[in-house]
Amino acid sequence: MKKPIIITIDGPAGAGKSTIAKLLADKLSFHYLDTGALYRAITLKTLRENILLSNEQAIIRLLSQSSIEIKYSPSSKSARILLDGDDVSNDVRAAKLTDYASQVSALGAVRREMVKLQRRLARAGDIVCEGRDMGSVVFPRAQIKFYLDASLENRSKRRYKENKSLFPNSRLSYKQILKEIKQRDYRDTHRKVAPLIKPTNAFYIDTTNLSIPEVLKKLIGIINNRLRSKK
Ligand code: C5P
Repeated sequence: MKKPIIITIDGPAGAGKSTIAKLLADKLSFHYLDTGALYRAITLKTLRENILLSNEQAIIRLLSQSSIEIKYSPSSKSARILLDGDDVSNDVRAAKLTDYASQVSALGAVRREMVKLQRRLARAGDIVCEGRDMGSVVFPRAQIKFYLDASLENRSKRRYKENKSLFPNSRLSYKQILKEIKQRDYRDTHRKVAPLIKPTNAFYIDTTNLSIPEVLKKLIGIINNRLRSKK
């Protein structure tokens, strides 16, 4: 049987990972795994159950009792996140939740359980996986690895626009979002367990001055080259 192909995309918030990963999965007819959504969903449940965000053991227990699914619809290019069967896609995108998810994701024991879950989910077949530790920790033997990046200002602008379209009444300013992203960048790159790094052998793509189709074209070119040379 042919070994499934794993493509990993890592990078900081707002670098374009989700947009590109979905388009790529669609174009290649691969599955899609958004690992940030998994951290967000379990964080939402932790808050709903009034569990302290630092209570590793309780969060792990919660994870083992929860069902988290990501339903990607190529036709609408959207991925819905189901927590115990309920659609929580919008709830998990709230700014406060985003900050809390980054705190939960710094807990070593939670990460270890997440790695197992992510590897299980990736058994579905050829897959594009996006997150912060995909190429470095979860899938170190992935056939193709990317690291997407962009300037802090550019990433903050993208997140500001996204927040406005998801939550039109939100009062979050561009400056606040920039500050939040800066803090999250720091936490993600400085945590003890699986910090965000550019994985060895990952292709580094700076998306600051590139349009989405341009980034996609770059990645497809690299993938085609790679897969051809492996035949
Ligand atoms: O990618 P997204 O912004 O949805 O991720 C939310 C948070 O989850 C990130 O800021 C990061 O702290 C954490 N995360 C992680 N490892 C992953 C995916 C996300 O630590 N593989």
